[in-house]
Amino acid sequence: MKYVYLFGKGINEGDASQINLLGGKGANLAEMSSLNIPVPPGFTITTSVCNLFLKNASLTPSIKKNITKSLKNVERVMLKKFGDQENPLLLSVRSGAKVSMPGMMETVLNIGLTSKTIPGLINKTNNPRFVYDSYRRLIMMYSDVVMEKAEQKKGIHIREKLENILENYKSAKSIQYDYDLSSDDLKYLIKKFKIEIKKQFKVNFPDTCEEQLWGAIEAVFKSWNGKRAIQYRNIENIPHDWGTAVNVQAMVFGNLGKTSATGVAFTRNPSNGNDNLYGEWLENAQGEDVVAGLRTPQPINESSKTLQTKKNKTLQKTWPVIYKKLISIKNKLEKHYKDMQDVEFTIESGNLWMLQTRSGKRTGEAAIKIAIEMNEKKLISQKEVLDRIVSKNIDEIMHPKVDPETEKINSPIESGLPASPGGACGQIVFTASDAELWHKKNKKVLLVRHETSPEDVQGMHVSQGIITAKGGMTSHAALVARGWGKACIVGCSNLNIDLKKKTVTINNSIYKEGDWLTINSTEGLIYDKKLKLVKSNFFQNKYFLKLMTLTNKFKRLEIRTNADNPKDAALSKLLGAQGIGLCRTEHMFFDKKRIRSVQKMILSHSNDDRKSAIMELLPYQKKDFYKILKEMAPMPVTIRLLDPPLHEFLPSQKNTSLIKSLAENMKISAKEIINRIIDLFEINPMLGHRGCRLAISYPEITEMQVEAIFSACAKLIKEGVKPNPEIMIPLISTVGEFENQKMIVDRIAKKLNAKFNIKLKYKLGTMIELPRACLTADKIAQTADFFSFGTNDLTQTTFGFSRDDIGSFIQDYFDNNILLDDPFKTIDQNGVGQLVKLAAEKGRKSKPKIKIGVCGEHGGDPKSVYFFDDINLNYVSCSPYRVPIARLSAAKNAIRNSK
Ligand code: PEP
Ligand code: MG
Repeated sequence: MKYVYLFGKGINEGDASQINLLGGKGANLAEMSSLNIPVPPGFTITTSVCNLFLKNASLTPSIKKNITKSLKNVERVMLKKFGDQENPLLLSVRSGAKVSMPGMMETVLNIGLTSKTIPGLINKTNNPRFVYDSYRRLIMMYSDVVMEKAEQKKGIHIREKLENILENYKSAKSIQYDYDLSSDDLKYLIKKFKIEIKKQFKVNFPDTCEEQLWGAIEAVFKSWNGKRAIQYRNIENIPHDWGTAVNVQAMVFGNLGKTSATGVAFTRNPSNGNDNLYGEWLENAQGEDVVAGLRTPQPINESSKTLQTKKNKTLQKTWPVIYKKLISIKNKLEKHYKDMQDVEFTIESGNLWMLQTRSGKRTGEAAIKIAIEMNEKKLISQKEVLDRIVSKNIDEIMHPKVDPETEKINSPIESGLPASPGGACGQIVFTASDAELWHKKNKKVLLVRHETSPEDVQGMHVSQGIITAKGGMTSHAALVARGWGKACIVGCSNLNIDLKKKTVTINNSIYKEGDWLTINSTEGLIYDKKLKLVKSNFFQNKYFLKLMTLTNKFKRLEIRTNADNPKDAALSKLLGAQGIGLCRTEHMFFDKKRIRSVQKMILSHSNDDRKSAIMELLPYQKKDFYKILKEMAPMPVTIRLLDPPLHEFLPSQKNTSLIKSLAENMKISAKEIINRIIDLFEINPMLGHRGCRLAISYPEITEMQVEAIFSACAKLIKEGVKPNPEIMIPLISTVGEFENQKMIVDRIAKKLNAKFNIKLKYKLGTMIELPRACLTADKIAQTADFFSFGTNDLTQTTFGFSRDDIGSFIQDYFDNNILLDDPFKTIDQNGVGQLVKLAAEKGRKSKPKIKIGVCGEHGGDPKSVYFFDDINLNYVSCSPYRVPIARLSAAKNAIRNSK
């Protein structure tokens, strides 16, 4: 088994395909090196070594031997030696898992500085300030990562202690920036650091290169199981047994003086997808300075400038030759990887080195634009475009933004860098743990921080949006928020946060925890009010439209929508719906005027009273159907006959005297009992006397609705429109119920066709939303033209409870270790899918050409759509805004199945 892979300066033992073994960073370093892109030489210790190490808590002698041997190779090509007194090699030790976990694991830089090597390096570089600065960085990182975290020395907080020493020293000597520290300052600080370390850990800071190297390697492996790394993997669904690789690499220095720098860049703009190199750089600095957001970096070129950095100097202007090299590397990388890359680079004394490349995190808008443009440039195929875009990308471009009209009449109180576009509004909190606490209380929060760190991920995740005072477009907050599609503004320099008082002062105004702020993170603006958020106008995004056109080319499944008013029907058409799969007629009666007639219908004692109440609804229904059928013609509109949970139309009945005596007896308040009655009232009538069973009792309902449909169609036909109605009977359990309703529909239809002198053809089908209907589907199919699975009711009736019910017993389940099979899991995973599959098979056995669809919420759930496509259903129907996601999912699955 090979444990260690060399790369750099013409030696390439690995390549990008070995990502499982070498991790993303290692595999790509090897790949860049084979593309003749300059990377500092080094080697990758594999993820298998990580798993072995975590199992045995030590590195085996044979692995250690391999590492030492590889180090010799690096020494040879670098013409330097690790630990050498005259020409010492320094190393970086970095983590690198299969997928990027930004900032979640550890890194140690400048390894190999000891009392033995420091004089030699000073001599060699003639730059004592640089050497001492590198040494103090090593001490700060190493003591934190290796001596404290890896050794699990809890509660020391060495990083904070050393930073305090540094800050106190700087303020005592009126020094503003780290780079203004002289070598004497640094020497003094190093001495102080070492004393503090001895005091805290009771051991000296390690002064041999070997000890430093092994300590760092083991610490990086251990960081795979650090708390924040585990949390991140849980959020991102990353398996815990992957392990991280470790990359040991020759150090190159961006902090060697005025001709050195460090930077990070995206090969395209990660917010909007524009095809320009987009990034930041810092002169005379090491990479951690950029990523940590401690100094606000400069824009790399004109297109990376923001409102705040518009006057700053760019790399393009300062060092045009190096900039050109960077552009040619951008082109090479994109051509090779066929994707937008996120790179880190260092310029050491005028020489450009690439430290990392990986596929860049991007917003939904950018993802779609980049994929479409790369297809237009023939870098990737149409199938690859669809393969690359995920439903989250589409979800994200539909995200709300601050209502432009409201924004016009409000002035922002502060602006910052638009790190991740969108809009968000919430009550402010100042720590990640407060964000979690408030979130648990169902509050919407905005997290306001100086800067975020990997410890904050959980709190960031539950926040509506994030604001930071420091940091640039590639700071931790920016990177993580963009990956999640969460609104985020960074680098708001006028924010003054007081963590003790839990306040933030923004331009002389004080805001306290719980105050409402709104952010427009597309522009980077903050408002001190709760502003209205509106849906985005993604319809006009030409890349989105092109993507949607592509879905039609590949998908097999038809996508319809659930709509019960003309506005939703029109919207769904814009989003590409191929018809209405569910028009819930009971939703048409919630209107004030109409509800009275329904109430009359429910409460009437005589047939005549009931009939007349029902007939009051006819003109409304006719008008509604007319508009919807017209909007969708000639596409089908599946109209479901009335399925009202009756209690929804009645006020709650309060038997006050009984409630009072019960309350006294139970020693609880009357209000509590009333609430309970209302709760139960809502749940129980959901079964039973509902759906077709109501219409069997009151056939007038069906008669009236069919009359309304036919009258509307007759009018449309006379106007030259081709209405396409499909009538659907709700909630049947056996074929007898269906046949009862079918007789009524057919009778009325025949009568009205004659009356209006038209030959309207209609389809007549049924909802399948009870387990019993699934089991009898073969019989039902003999007379039905179509089935539509109502997976909402089918899920509840299969499980015997609903999601709302779960709240009342979930704690008991936890307490008793009872595993709950979540009914709202993907349909094929929760068992309900089996019923759907069985019913579809039974139905097709009786009538091979029967049309079968789904109109429950699962019709818009990507994984459920894959399942429905796999079992060959004809269509899914979902709410209008899920239509694009259903289209994408159907296309992705068709491509997957064609492979
Ligand atoms: C269903 O049950 O899945 C369905 C679509 O009907 P409703 O949600 O109206 O009960
Ligand atoms: Mg239903």
